[in-house]
Amino acid sequence: MITVVVFGDQLHRSIGALGDAHPSTHRVLMVESRGKIASRPWHVQRAHFIVVSMRRFAHELRAEGFDVDYRHADSMRKGIESHRNDYAPSALVATEPNSYNARTLLTRLNVTTVRSNQFLCHPEDFAVFASTKKSFKMEDFYRWQRRRLGYLMQSDEPAGGAWNFDADNRLPPPKTGHDRWATPKVDALDDLDRDVVASLPSSCWGEAPTGLWATSRSGALARLRHFVDHVLPEFGPHEDAMLTDNWHLAHSLLSPYLNNGLLLPHEVCDAVQEAYDRGLVPINSAEGFIRQIIGWREFVWNTYWREMPDYRNRNALDATRPLPPMFTSGNTSMRCMSTALDGVYQRAWVHHIPRLMVLGNFALLTGIQPLAFTQWMWNSFVDAAEWVMLPNVVGMSLYADGGVIATKPYAAGGAYIDRMSDHCKGCAYDRKKRTGDDACPFTTLYWDFLARHADRFARNPRIVTQVRAAQKLTDLDDVRTTAAGVLKGVDTGHT
Ligand code: SF4
Repeated sequence: MITVVVFGDQLHRSIGALGDAHPSTHRVLMVESRGKIASRPWHVQRAHFIVVSMRRFAHELRAEGFDVDYRHADSMRKGIESHRNDYAPSALVATEPNSYNARTLLTRLNVTTVRSNQFLCHPEDFAVFASTKKSFKMEDFYRWQRRRLGYLMQSDEPAGGAWNFDADNRLPPPKTGHDRWATPKVDALDDLDRDVVASLPSSCWGEAPTGLWATSRSGALARLRHFVDHVLPEFGPHEDAMLTDNWHLAHSLLSPYLNNGLLLPHEVCDAVQEAYDRGLVPINSAEGFIRQIIGWREFVWNTYWREMPDYRNRNALDATRPLPPMFTSGNTSMRCMSTALDGVYQRAWVHHIPRLMVLGNFALLTGIQPLAFTQWMWNSFVDAAEWVMLPNVVGMSLYADGGVIATKPYAAGGAYIDRMSDHCKGCAYDRKKRTGDDACPFTTLYWDFLARHADRFARNPRIVTQVRAAQKLTDLDDVRTTAAGVLKGVDTGHT
C-alpha cells in the first residue's frame, strides 16, 4: 500500500496526491501534532477549527473506504516516522505542503511530493509570468490570471468594460441600516466540538467556539451557497468600512475554508461567475470578489514562495518594539483598537481593513518588531497560515520587506479611520489633534512616523507629498514630544 500524507491545510479529496488515491491501493496518514498545538498561545477558535476539520475529514475518508491512520504524535516528523515503522508502506507520497518548513521536512524524510493544485497559479507558472516582465504589480498579475482563467471575460476584454471597479467599492460606512447585510450562518456544536475544546491546552485563549466556523466540507459548501445567494449581491461597496455594531458587513467569511482546503478557489470563483452570468450580482461585486481570490490571494501565495526563507526576517524599517500589552489584554482607550481587538477575541477574525489599517497600521506606526507582530496575527486568526501572514504582515502592513509587496507604507492617521468607521465618535481621543493629552495616537504617530522616516521615503512618489507636509509642520517638535509620550503609554499599557 502507498501512504498519502495529508496535512491539516489540505483537506480536500481532489488535492494533489489524494486526488489520484483509491482505498484499494492507498492508505492515508494524518498527524495531529501535540507539539504544534502546544507550541503557541493559539486562539481557541483557531485551534478548534484546525483540529476538528482534520478529524471530520479523516471520518469522511474512512466512510469512503480508506484506511486512515490518524495519528497523535509529538510532531509531524515523529508521526511520519512512526507510521513508516508501523506500516512499512511501499511509498510515502504527499501533495506539496503549503509551508516552507513542511516541504523541508518531507525532503529530509524522503517523502515524495506531488505538484499541488490547491491554488490556481502554481509557483512554476508564476515564474513564467514574472520572467516576461521587467517589473510588475499585483494588478498586472491579476489581469494575466483573468485572461488565462477566463473569469469575468468577454473574449479578450473584461466583463463590464473595466478590469477594476475599486472606485465603486470604497464607500464609507452608511449612517443607518446597519442590519442590511445577511446574518452569518451558525451551526450547533456537537460532541466532537466539545471534546476537542476540552482537550486543548490552557494556553489557548479567546471566546469559545460558537459554531460560526464550519469544520466540514458540507458545512463549508453551505457557507459558500449562503454567501453567493445572500451576501455577494451586497459585496463590494462597503468592503472597506468598519462598524462598531456590525462586524461582518458583506464579507464572505470563506477564507478559513480556502486556507485549510475545505474549499478550492476554483469552486468559489465558479459559483460567483455563475451568479454573475445569471444576472444575480452586479459587476462591481463579482469583480471585487474574484480579484481577492485570483488576484491578491494568489499573488500573496506566490510572493511567499519567491521570497522564502529569509522573508521571515525582513525588517526594512528597523522596527524593534516588543508586542505591546494591549494585544494580549485588549485594554486600551483607543476605540478603534479596542473594537478590533475585541473582534479578534470574540471570533478570531476581523476583516481586512481592521487588520491592515487599524491593527497593522498601529504596529507600523509604533514600530513593532515584524516577526513578533506576524506571530501574534498567526496565533489569533482562524484563517491564518505562514504563507498568508508573512506577505500580508511583513510586506503589506509593516513595509518590512522594503517594498516587495506594497509600493508605499500603509500608514494612516485618525482621519482615515474616522472616514471609514464610526469608531471616533465616543473615543477618549480627538482624531483631529496631533499634540496634547487627548491627541489621537494614530494622528500623532502618523506625523511622527513620516518625519522619522523622511529620508527613506523622500523619493517615493506615492508618499513624498505627505513626507514633505510632515517636515513642514510648525508644531513638529510638539508632535515628537507627544509621540514619545504615546509610545511610553503603549509600552506600559496606558494608551
Ligand atoms: Fe482611533 Fe483616534 Fe479615532 Fe480614537 S480618535 S477611534 S484612537 S482613530
